[in-house]
Amino acid sequence: MSDFPDKLLLPDIPNLHRIDVYEQHGGYAAIRKALAMTTDAVIDEVKKSNLKGRGGAGFPTGLKWTFMPKQTSKPKYLCANGDEGEPGTFKDRQIFELNPHQFIEGCLIASYAMGVRATYVYIRGEYVKWINILQHAIDEAYAKNYIGNKICGTNFSTDVYIVRGAGAYICGEESSLMNSIEGDRGYPRVKPPFPAQVGLWGCPTTINNIETLTNIPVIMNRGGDWYSKIGSSKHPGTLLYGISGHVNKPGVYELPTGVLLTDLIHKHAGGIHGGKKIKAVIPGGSSTMWLRGDELEGVRMDADSLKAAGTSIGTAGVIVMDEDTDVLKVLARITHFYHHESCGQCTPCREGCGWMEKILKRFMSVDGNIEDIDLLLNVANNIEGNTVCALGDAAAWPVQSVIKKFREEFEKRIGKIPAENKYIPPPHLVAKSG
Ligand code: SF4
Repeated sequence: MSDFPDKLLLPDIPNLHRIDVYEQHGGYAAIRKALAMTTDAVIDEVKKSNLKGRGGAGFPTGLKWTFMPKQTSKPKYLCANGDEGEPGTFKDRQIFELNPHQFIEGCLIASYAMGVRATYVYIRGEYVKWINILQHAIDEAYAKNYIGNKICGTNFSTDVYIVRGAGAYICGEESSLMNSIEGDRGYPRVKPPFPAQVGLWGCPTTINNIETLTNIPVIMNRGGDWYSKIGSSKHPGTLLYGISGHVNKPGVYELPTGVLLTDLIHKHAGGIHGGKKIKAVIPGGSSTMWLRGDELEGVRMDADSLKAAGTSIGTAGVIVMDEDTDVLKVLARITHFYHHESCGQCTPCREGCGWMEKILKRFMSVDGNIEDIDLLLNVANNIEGNTVCALGDAAAWPVQSVIKKFREEFEKRIGKIPAENKYIPPPHLVAKSG
């Protein structure tokens, strides 16, 4: 892993959300530079950087851009995915709040490279504060002709619009996000066709994550080669690690990819409350496989290292649980979330998530039995890989990993009512002895 050069996405510059401050620090130089290059040269620079998407799938961004057809009679669109509904994930709102113009500039460079007519920034509706900040930044950029007609005196024109989501987690999935923008119900689409061929309103469309796009101006300014040397070679750059749970200093930390997970927890996030031990960590948002506290040594926060550890980088939203955590209670809560958020389109997810929640509720009361452990695993195994979109997998993976790593917690629970669920009668109902 290389030394950390500096903060690329969230630099410590006061008032950077204002366009004059952003310009004073070199802002909007990258779009001018890109506009003087061919579109192929811009895409080549992004390919050289080896930037991988930051939304969870980790697909190479430059390669994704090449999927957009060059010759088409239809308008092309870019969707910037700021739905950010994954529990444990809260990084995009930091970008909107602290550095919105760099994100906008990334959209503009991507739009120029792919010949995009309009960008739709899809943001979860609850993010009222951050929507307002971003809209103000977009208005500033229009006023200075960075967005709109004949940008910076060239023949390139493009627009940027915000679309507010209505609060469904499934609209973070790229095809239901497009349905939602079109005004339809947020149902994932069956693929193929892929969005680059048939996307928004049937037109070629690319969907990129907010953090991914915010990296683009850095790559244009400093070059793809320079960028590719930061952090882990196969997954370069910096990441916005959102760390929550039983740490002393939860928050968003920008660090290179490949930082040790233990350093992230102990050095940057201040260690565990009360100096307790770690029982479990979810490394990439609630849908990723869990790690036990004794599996963390040497694990690095990049795609390869986490894959070798049996999990994935996801959104780099790290959830830390201390030794006193009731992991079944956490799992039941997560499973309730996925059951609630299932769009209901396909049977394994619609029914299976409900069955998993019911079984977990049995363990949370006195009714769980030993056969229920494998029944729960069986349901999860039959959801995984058998659904239209990845929400099914997202619901199955936590269940599979908790059974694999904490089976004894299920066994201990059988026939016992957890302390917090016990009925404690009020004093006036307790019979006096003697
Ligand atoms: Fe809907 Fe779940 Fe099927 Fe995805 S996996 S399409 S959320 S029912």
